Parts: sequence; structure tokens; C-alpha cells
Amino acid sequence: MPILRSHRFLTAALTAIFLAGCNGREPAQPQPAASQPAATGTVAPPAVPLASLPKIDGAAILQTIKVMSSDKFQGRAPGTIGEDLSVGYLETQFRDLGLEPGNPDGTYIQKVPLVGITGSEAKPLTITKAGETGTMKWKDDVVAWSKHVADGASIEKSDVVFAGYGVEAPEYGWDDFKGTDVKGKTIVVLVNDPAIPDPADPAKLDPKMFGGNAMTYYGRWTYKFEQGARKGAAAVLIVHETLPAGYPFSVVQGNLNEKFDLVAPDKNMAKANIEGWITLDAARRLFTMAGQDFDTLKKRAISKDFTPVPLGLKASMAIRNKLRTIDSRNVIAKLPGSDPVLKDEYVVYSAHWDHLGVGAAVNGDTIYNGALDNASGVATVLEIARALKQARPQPKRSFLFLMVTAEEKGLLGSEYYSLNPLYPLAKTAANINIDGVNQWGRTKDISVVGLGASELDDYLRQAAQEQGRTLTPDPEPEKGFYYRSDHFNFAKQGVPALDPDSGIDYIGRSAAWGKAKRDEYTDKDYHAPSDQVKADWDLSGAVEDAQLLMAVGYRVANADRMPEWRAGNEFKAKRDAMLRK
Ligand SMILES: [Zn+2]
Repeated sequence: MPILRSHRFLTAALTAIFLAGCNGREPAQPQPAASQPAATGTVAPPAVPLASLPKIDGAAILQTIKVMSSDKFQGRAPGTIGEDLSVGYLETQFRDLGLEPGNPDGTYIQKVPLVGITGSEAKPLTITKAGETGTMKWKDDVVAWSKHVADGASIEKSDVVFAGYGVEAPEYGWDDFKGTDVKGKTIVVLVNDPAIPDPADPAKLDPKMFGGNAMTYYGRWTYKFEQGARKGAAAVLIVHETLPAGYPFSVVQGNLNEKFDLVAPDKNMAKANIEGWITLDAARRLFTMAGQDFDTLKKRAISKDFTPVPLGLKASMAIRNKLRTIDSRNVIAKLPGSDPVLKDEYVVYSAHWDHLGVGAAVNGDTIYNGALDNASGVATVLEIARALKQARPQPKRSFLFLMVTAEEKGLLGSEYYSLNPLYPLAKTAANINIDGVNQWGRTKDISVVGLGASELDDYLRQAAQEQGRTLTPDPEPEKGFYYRSDHFNFAKQGVPALDPDSGIDYIGRSAAWGKAKRDEYTDKDYHAPSDQVKADWDLSGAVEDAQLLMAVGYRVANADRMPEWRAGNEFKAKRDAMLRK
């Protein structure tokens, strides 16, 4: 079961993590040595030792961070002067580094049209059953919205069906729908992965199903809405429970603020008319009205034999939308590979250039500078690009350096790229994403969120060994951080993606020290105007991490074949299908 570990998960900061997802990493704890997965030996010995590759320059990284997080850049919000300055700066940097325009149209720009939607209740969520009527209170009982790019959306006397966890996962032999037609219906689903007890120890989760304690993508709330839409549901309502969700309902209520999305050619009409959450109390009332018991049906939902339960209720609701559009931009450069054939395959480094812009004053400061989040990632990718250009022998595959917009608005720039790739995803060997770097000195380890997902881990482990360092798994896999930054959009489309994070074991420091520093950042600086360059920053650890990530990309670019997902990974089927074509 996901555990609510920290009181800080009840803070406003989480609202932002929940909404945007970036870099809101919980402080990590050192893992026992036994949790270090063994090398699998799928990676050939390096032809060029790490020590012979070009060096990463920490001063250059710091300089870029200072520029992009300066007050002049106004917090880099999409659609503002901060965007113009950021995009202009990145174009100049790419040009100065001698990198080619990454867009085949000859520019460094990929346009990303965004929509901002502010929804309000036009008609309350009303549940009816033969003469009986129940009304859910907006915000208190139900938080709902419509992603349709339209003045509004509604459901009218739509049949209500309990669809268990709303999951269809072939690799686990799991299908909550079993062919049941839910077109035009309102499905009520449970949050997180199906919580299947371990047959050997019912107090634990079955490690063979849905990653055990780790959250798979099937557990993410975004998946539930996507799956509902694929099934043609008119509305998808997730039952909020604090423990498996990982946050209180107050965080969900933050969704009533303006929400951003991409605009699909169909104006997002393929999405459910209404997406939303209901509280556990509201769900209990709804099930009681149907003559059902929530807990009994919830228990039934943890079986492979579950079939959807029509509740004999009808749901009606209407939502009004206020819309605005923002024309934003991804910035992309290319370093062509040297091999006549393999140059048509790509290794993509990514980092989001955007941050929160100008907002509410904290200690008199209104500019959310975003030095760590994520000027640091952008600066690091630029420095890796510079180093890779010097690397000899020249890499065989090509590199793309992709600085995406609107991560803070829901990973939208990377989503746009993944849905409108400038180079075929089947020819995209890997994504390495950097969202925040280590600013407190060297570590004995480097963390990997989703460790074990793909062969990219083997490349990283090998390079780490050359530095005398080890890999640390994500200390809180139950929170599903793998699904919360830009690399995820590559993974979701099937491209193996690496999500490295700062190590946790600082040289010459206690384990508690590293944790305290991370806590301090999350409490004071995360998504606050004080995320600025600090006098005590020490980027020596970040430089080592960048050296590793550069080596990983270089070696992937030179490998005999592209890296693969591990068997059983939820994105493997998509990749395999893509490569068969
Ligand atoms: Zn952020």
C-alpha cells in the first residue's frame, strides 16, 4: 500500500506537485545494500573509458543557471516575456555551440499551442434512481472539469457503472472492463493500482502484480481518465482515498484553478466530457443509494475475475469553460551522428525551460526564479551538448537536445513532442531527462527513479562504477515519481527513458544530512520565489552526474542496438509494436 510518509504531503507545495509533477521529489533515504539490483551484463564494455570523454564544466553550468534564473527572465512562464527571453537565449546558445537546428524546417523551434481552461459548475452533479435524487456538492463532494476545448460539457442521465480500478493491463492478465460497453456512461473507479495481497504474506502487496509496492502507470489518476476515454465513457469519476492517492482531497480541489492542456485536432472531444474526483464519503452515499456496499465492491475489485457493476443510477452534470490560448515553444537542436545508417537514430536529452513566472509574493519577492527547477537541468543539457560535440570518436547516432515548455502546467511541452515527434519515435533510441541537479556536493551514489525499467540502467551503472559510485533505487516507488516528469511522455509512447535524480549519500556527510538538505529545499525553496542560486551551492556532484549522463548517451549512441525495456514493463508492448512496423 502506498504510505503517506510525511506531514509535508499535507502542504500547499504538494498541490503544485500534484498538478505539475516536476521534481517534487520526496527526500530520499539510503537503501540497504541488498536492494541494489545486480548488473545484467547486457551492456558491452565501453570502447572509450569515462575518463577519456570530454570533461563537464561546472562553471559553465552555473553561468547558464544564473542567466536563466535572473529576475530579468521573470520566472520563465509560458506566454510571457520570460518565454521570449528563454527561447531566444537557448537559440543563441545552440547556435554558439555549433549545433544544427533541431526542427527539419530549419529552425530551433517547435510551436506548442496550449489552452488554459477554467471550469465552473453550470449544473450540479445529480444522481437519480426511480424517484430518488441525490446531489453532490461542488468542491466539497465532487471536483470535476472538462478538457473539451468548448464553452462547456455535460452528461445527461448517464448510466453509472462501477469499473473497479478501471485498468486494462495485458502484461498482468488484467482487464476490469471485460468487454462491458461503457459508451456514454459514467464510470466510477478506484485510485492507484489494484491492491492485490501477496499470497505468501497478505500484509504485503503481491510483488508480481502491478509492481508490488511500486506504483505503475495504471495507478496514476491520469491513466484512469485516458482509459475511460478509450472506452468511450462520458464521465470518469475517481473515488478519492487519501492513503492510496497519496494526498488529501484539498490537493484535488486545487484542480478547480485554471488547467492547461494541449489542443488535439478534435478539440479534445475524444476525452470524456467530464473528468473528476468524488470524496470517499460521497462515493459511499452513491453506492448506498444503489443498494450496494462500497467496501464489498472495492474488495471484489482486487480480483482478476472482477466485472463492472451497473449501479442502476443515472448521473447528470454540466460544466462551463472559460478558455484562453497560449502559443508556446519547445526549443530543439541536433548533433548529427557520424554513421551513415545509425545517424537516422536519435538519443534525446531533455529538460524543461519553463517555470512558474510571477506570482504571489513570498517575503516580498514575486519572481519565481526556478534556479534549480529547472534552469539547472537546461544548463546541464547545454553543457552535455557541448561536451558531446567534442567527443571522439564521434558518436554514431544523432543527438537531439530538447528544451520543453509547460512542464509546470502538466508536462505539456514534452507531451506535445511525443505526440508530434520531429523524428520517428521508432528511431528514437532513448530519452534522458534532467529536472533539477544536485547542489550540495559529491555523492557516492546516483538515484534512478524507476530503476529496473530498461537497459538504460545498465549503461548508467557501468558508468557509475567507473566513477566508483553506485545506483540507488527510488526510495519511494509507491508515489509513482516515474510518471511525473518529462521523460514519462517518451516512456508512455514506448521510448526507453531514464529519470536520474541526485544521489543521497554525500561524501563525508551522514545520511541524515542529505535528507535534511532535501527537506530544507522542499520546505523553503520548492516552487517558491527563493529557488535561486545560493552562495553555498556546490555543483561538484552535479558535474559528476552530468559526466555520467553524458557517457550514457554517448554509449547508447554507439551501441550495436537500441536499448530495450525490461520484460514485464508496462511500456514494452508499445515499443515492441512500434519496432515491428
Ligand atoms: Zn517544478
